[in-house]
Amino acid sequence: MTLTPELDPFKLAKTLSGKHLIGGAFVPAKSGKTFPVDNPATLAEIGTAAFGTKADVDAAVAAAKAAQKEWAKLSARSRGKLVAECGRVLSAHVEELGRLVALETGKALRTESRVEAGVLADMFVFFGGLGSELKGETIPFNPDMLTVTVREPVGVVACIIPWNVPLLLMAMKAAAALVAGNAVVVKSAEEAPLTVLRVAEIMNTVLPHGVFNILSGFGPECGAPLVEHPDVGKVSFTGSVDTGRIVYKAAAEKLIPVTLELGGKSPMIVCADADMDQAVAGALAGMRFTRQGQSCTASSRIFVHESIHDEFVAKVKAKVDAMVMGDPLDEKTDIGTIISDGQFERVNSYIKLGEETKGATKHVCSAMPKDAKLTNGRFVQPVIFTGVTNADRICREEIFGPVCAVIKWSDYESVINQANDSEYGLAASIWTRDIKIAMDATRRLEAGFVQVNQNLVVQPGLSYGGVKTSGLGREASLESMLEHFTHKKTIIFNMR
Ligand code: ADP
Ligand code: MG
Repeated sequence: MTLTPELDPFKLAKTLSGKHLIGGAFVPAKSGKTFPVDNPATLAEIGTAAFGTKADVDAAVAAAKAAQKEWAKLSARSRGKLVAECGRVLSAHVEELGRLVALETGKALRTESRVEAGVLADMFVFFGGLGSELKGETIPFNPDMLTVTVREPVGVVACIIPWNVPLLLMAMKAAAALVAGNAVVVKSAEEAPLTVLRVAEIMNTVLPHGVFNILSGFGPECGAPLVEHPDVGKVSFTGSVDTGRIVYKAAAEKLIPVTLELGGKSPMIVCADADMDQAVAGALAGMRFTRQGQSCTASSRIFVHESIHDEFVAKVKAKVDAMVMGDPLDEKTDIGTIISDGQFERVNSYIKLGEETKGATKHVCSAMPKDAKLTNGRFVQPVIFTGVTNADRICREEIFGPVCAVIKWSDYESVINQANDSEYGLAASIWTRDIKIAMDATRRLEAGFVQVNQNLVVQPGLSYGGVKTSGLGREASLESMLEHFTHKKTIIFNMR
């Protein structure tokens, strides 16, 4: 069966309303309850999502458990072919998925949402190719004993995802878990439950029913019982540090492994000899201005050498000024909205805190949309703060919005220490033409993803994850799939 792309996201949002996808079928919540999903650009309701509770979790885990046995019996390459086929089928739905994710998250279609839908498909193609890499080892333990290791799936994997890049994050967890022979239950984010549901529907045209299930609902009512379920053998979580701690504790009770991808306050160090235009473009990419800064990797602390500081700030500001903020579905729009009321208030409270910070100067960029129908939308003008220090709260706490702090520096040793003086350690970058400085900084920066003269996002094939409170474990790569979604079994044959 092939599905026809539905390019009207409003229509699609209605069709997908009020359902989980369990065992290959759309089903309402057992309680019959739903919750509203809004368009962050207008605050109009676009649909509803099923309000998941323990009863729904039980049904989804049971479906996953039942399907997993046959799934794991397929040869690894056969599973991989099906996972890659999901990618190929999803790639025919990029436009549809991009539009729907733009509608429900407020992320601009051209600069963010369509791109994310493309990466979603690519992740499945990438992981699908890794089936034959699920290899074990032969160990020279004893000449009379053939000793080997094999990789076995964990069983049922729970994937709990946030709203900022729901397609990409779901793909990087689910595709890896599936190719390794696991069945998956996803708990979508309450702010963005619809597009992932359509992805699940599309995947279910390719996969055996039950190996990929998706629940919508809130953390305490739906996420917690999923983590606590006795038949869930692994949790892969992306979200906030506080929730990550709750998930880790619940997993500890059951002694099951977790992968946690949490917050960040990523430093970007710009040296005096950096290529100015490259560094300016890197700041725009790193800060994810087009996504209203709603990224855990956002380069939200930019350390700029004093000799180029003013020129750098002026150039970044000019570029952000030239960006168009507006209707996420409009092709002319560069910057969309903030996702939710909670985030909107949080971001504005940090902007206020920045204004009250001693020595700080606020540079407001771009312009509010003029379209009257967007008056209620959660638009925030991007802000750059200069004159701040790494000790200020706006440089220490994750804002998850379009607020960027620029810190002036003069001494290299001191700037490395400041960059590392953070509870987080997700990403970092250094901008210089001096290879020795670049090498030194990449060794010393405390982060899981360190770049020189660029700020790329997650890439299929490259391990991604953090140190310190930014998380545990790695994602998006072959090694992460092997380490986090399989158990190693040692087998010893006595040949005597
Ligand atoms: P944010 O603050 O950006 O919403 P969260 O960490 O709260 O980030 O949410 C990330 C994901 O974790 C969401 O899908 C959310 O529903 C889920 N979640 C929240 N609380 C819990 C919990 N106690 N157990 C499991 N999942 C949870
Ligand atoms: Mg939350």
